[in-house]
Amino acid sequence: MADRAVSVPLPIQIVIDDVGWWSGADGHQRGEPYRTGIARDHVPADYAAIATLGRRLGVKPQAAMVLCEWDRTDRLRGVPSSQWMGAEWRNRWVGPWLDEAASIVRAGDFEPVLHGVGHEWWDEQGMSRAEWFGPDGMRPAAAVRAHLDAFLAIWAENRLGPVPTAFVPCAFLYTLGGGLAPLLAEYGITSVSTPYGRMVGARGGTCLDWDDGLPVVDRGRDLLPWHALGQAPSGEVLGPVCGMHWPNLLHLDPARNDEVVAGWVGLLAPYDQRPDRMLAPDTARWLSQLTYHLGTTVRGAVLDLPARRLGRWLRLKVDSEAPVTVDGATVLAQGLSDGWRWLDLDVPPDTRQLRL
Ligand SMILES: [Zn+2]
Repeated sequence: MADRAVSVPLPIQIVIDDVGWWSGADGHQRGEPYRTGIARDHVPADYAAIATLGRRLGVKPQAAMVLCEWDRTDRLRGVPSSQWMGAEWRNRWVGPWLDEAASIVRAGDFEPVLHGVGHEWWDEQGMSRAEWFGPDGMRPAAAVRAHLDAFLAIWAENRLGPVPTAFVPCAFLYTLGGGLAPLLAEYGITSVSTPYGRMVGARGGTCLDWDDGLPVVDRGRDLLPWHALGQAPSGEVLGPVCGMHWPNLLHLDPARNDEVVAGWVGLLAPYDQRPDRMLAPDTARWLSQLTYHLGTTVRGAVLDLPARRLGRWLRLKVDSEAPVTVDGATVLAQGLSDGWRWLDLDVPPDTRQLRL
């Protein structure tokens, strides 16, 4: 089958920031966090919008979560740098909406990931940006650990499901080699995504770099401004991340959230039909596919695989009506879509070459 075109498509993961606020108010002018800046508070239907997006596209978007307004026991009094009231912290958002939203999170239609506790940083000087990195680099390691511990404690008390394995830095303040990666790894984080355009120490090259062994993926540019509410998305997703902020998926009237979700479904679904792109089913397969996409050399029907990869899962798109067999891997599934045949493969770690 040497005459067939074979593609290792670029996988796209959807990443939605700033999920978890109950107040919609942008508080930064009074020393509070930026939050989502919308003209209403958040409701469980805003979580349902993320789940609907995932179900309609057949993927699990990342919801990068901020948890201080989920603190049921005011434990953040003990972590004064994580919120705007210090030792006087009192969370006014404890109510039945927590359980309602938690059950949507737990249902598994999207992947909640780590964003922050209070999103910014508070000390004697008041609020500054942002939670994990400030103007002088990483926040003190002991404080970072206290924030991570608090995040996981609030996670557990709300029974939000399996703990996150991915991270999005608040305000996209991240320094490659800045010392956070080993701490994140200690807490079970296995990947980071952030725009390289904002990353200190970015080296350019491909959209995947490594920070102390932790993969850091370039988010590129979001299609909409962070505070755009109820706006129809347009433009092209150029890299491996379709980044957005929670308001971008929502309507001022939460009963109409689905109208906004439909706009994103319309924009994103066609990427799955293109031979050079695909929508990643979840974060694990996104990372695996990305390493194959970046490192595979296609020579006709022979594929030379990269040595360093982040999983066994690989999707190929092949210009073939007829079913395709593969030497070197197990075909998990295959089918036709828009003239192209897709194949999902399980590739043993020691396999360095595939033959179609
Ligand atoms: Zn954020």
